[in-house]
Amino acid sequence: MRSPSSSIVLDSPRRAALAVLAGVVAAGPLFAAPPSPGPAGAGGRPPSGVGPGLSGPSRAREADVVLRGGAVYTLDAVRSWAESVAIRKDTILYVGPDSGIAPYVGPRTRVVNLEGRMVLPAFQDAHIHPISGGISQTQCALYDLETKEKYLAAVAKYASEHKDAAWIRGDGWSLAAFAPTGIPDKKLLDPVVPDRPVYLESSDGHSAWVNSKALSIAGITKETPDPPGGRIDRDPRTGEPVGSLQDSAMNLVSGKAPPYTAQERQEGLRRALRLLNGFGVTSFQDASVDIDSLETYRALDEKGELTARVVASLWWERDKGEEQIPGFLEERRKYTKGRVRATTIKIMQDGVMEVQTAAMLEPYKGKPGARGLEMVEPEALKKYVTRLDKEGFQVHFHAIGDAAIRHCLDALEAARRTNGPRDSRHHISHLEIFNPADIPRFRALGVVANFQPLWAFADDYMVKLTLPFLEPERARWIYPIGSLYRSGAVIAFGSDWSVSSPNPLEELEVAVTRMGPQGETKDPFIPEERIDLPEALAAFTINAAYVNFQDDKTGSIETGKLADLVVLDHNLFTIKPEAISDTKVVLTLLGGQLVHGDFSLAAPAR
Ligand SMILES: [Zn+2]
Repeated sequence: MRSPSSSIVLDSPRRAALAVLAGVVAAGPLFAAPPSPGPAGAGGRPPSGVGPGLSGPSRAREADVVLRGGAVYTLDAVRSWAESVAIRKDTILYVGPDSGIAPYVGPRTRVVNLEGRMVLPAFQDAHIHPISGGISQTQCALYDLETKEKYLAAVAKYASEHKDAAWIRGDGWSLAAFAPTGIPDKKLLDPVVPDRPVYLESSDGHSAWVNSKALSIAGITKETPDPPGGRIDRDPRTGEPVGSLQDSAMNLVSGKAPPYTAQERQEGLRRALRLLNGFGVTSFQDASVDIDSLETYRALDEKGELTARVVASLWWERDKGEEQIPGFLEERRKYTKGRVRATTIKIMQDGVMEVQTAAMLEPYKGKPGARGLEMVEPEALKKYVTRLDKEGFQVHFHAIGDAAIRHCLDALEAARRTNGPRDSRHHISHLEIFNPADIPRFRALGVVANFQPLWAFADDYMVKLTLPFLEPERARWIYPIGSLYRSGAVIAFGSDWSVSSPNPLEELEVAVTRMGPQGETKDPFIPEERIDLPEALAAFTINAAYVNFQDDKTGSIETGKLADLVVLDHNLFTIKPEAISDTKVVLTLLGGQLVHGDFSLAAPAR
């Protein structure tokens, strides 16, 4: 969700439906994912020319690495299983039973005995903010502290340890710690840091908690109007700003802080890549980039340090219009290189449920007239999206409320009416609360439903800040992942890190159980909306690869595809669903190169 209003402004800025798009009929009746038009067909079939009678590999067939004796879940179109994978350079040469691996083993081949460990295609995150996430680890981190008292203690400690810092910046506080309003107060911060500005973003990136010094540097007084797409929270009696800023109002303060240096950004991205590779992620879609972020990716790619394939979503400035598009075309041309493709435009259409900035068709319960914030006027949105579609961009929306979701779909429908269908793979992220009439439109329009499944359980955000403001019949349609799946839509998953954990195994567990991954809850939240493990795995692999326009090369384990894969210490299909998030990634390969762990398969320390 994180918007570029962040102080970390670098981010400023199935079946049938698919088969029709690709002009192919998927083979799998049950779990078929987007068919992958890779150079070889279904996994498990050795390349032609391999057969009985060959005692050793020809030079062309000798693998660099052979993984054998594993539970290899290929995520190919028919969801086949295998035992062995052979890799040469960056490419998968063979996937199939152990009995077929011998021709690939030569004197130089490293053979790794998996002893039943699981192999999957490496994970792909369809919505994440790596650079800001990495930078935030170097600042005042408030994640997981959960109470006001602990936040204030962490701020005091950070301020005393960083006496030279002109600004105290940090993030990760939870709106739930300030329930029922979700709005913190400057009066708590002022005694802790009276003389320097403090700017602290909420964990979802949509709110900032600031002290009086920060408000005064920004010139915010009770006379200051709310900016478009934002809100300055005020004392209801006096009109005084209380020290809490929503969405675009955050920029009023963050814009006064010194920008991060190129070195700070690159170090942030390095940290993020280490973390993501450790969780088995080797591809992602950065959900909001600006020029500084594009330069950061380019710099690391040129140094050979970019250990992920990246799709960058260029940030649509919502106070501007079509005049932005020539700039996007130029950025796409300039920055689509190496492992980076700047081929997507991110449009943030509303805010979030917890502070009632999500755009709703009907008012929030008990708040007459309050229907949230719509960031781009719906008729203008149609015009912009039609133009972007015509220019060949993929559009990646942020939509949380049912009105925002509907208006994004309306815009995509208008684009299709004008431009005709094309292989556009537009997607809408977050998708918190639906009007059920809009569910079938995803498949009908070929729009990918991009969920962040870690949010789909009854945590404090849900129980204290969301459910009280929705009638039960509306609350039924929160994160309806199962319904979207059953409608035939393509489901992709992302973490939205640093909003929430970047560990796909935590996300997968919640998608399958609708319960807290650390045992936070005992009952599933809207259990009808659970999905099965094969679909959940597809959403983090082949379907996310589809969103990233690289399902022809990645996202499944098939001969001819790139060797982006992970080894897990347990087979996810043989453990309890509640144990999925406890599973560890022991090895991650990106194009056949080790980016996490080693071939001894010892569980690496984090
Ligand atoms: Zn986001």
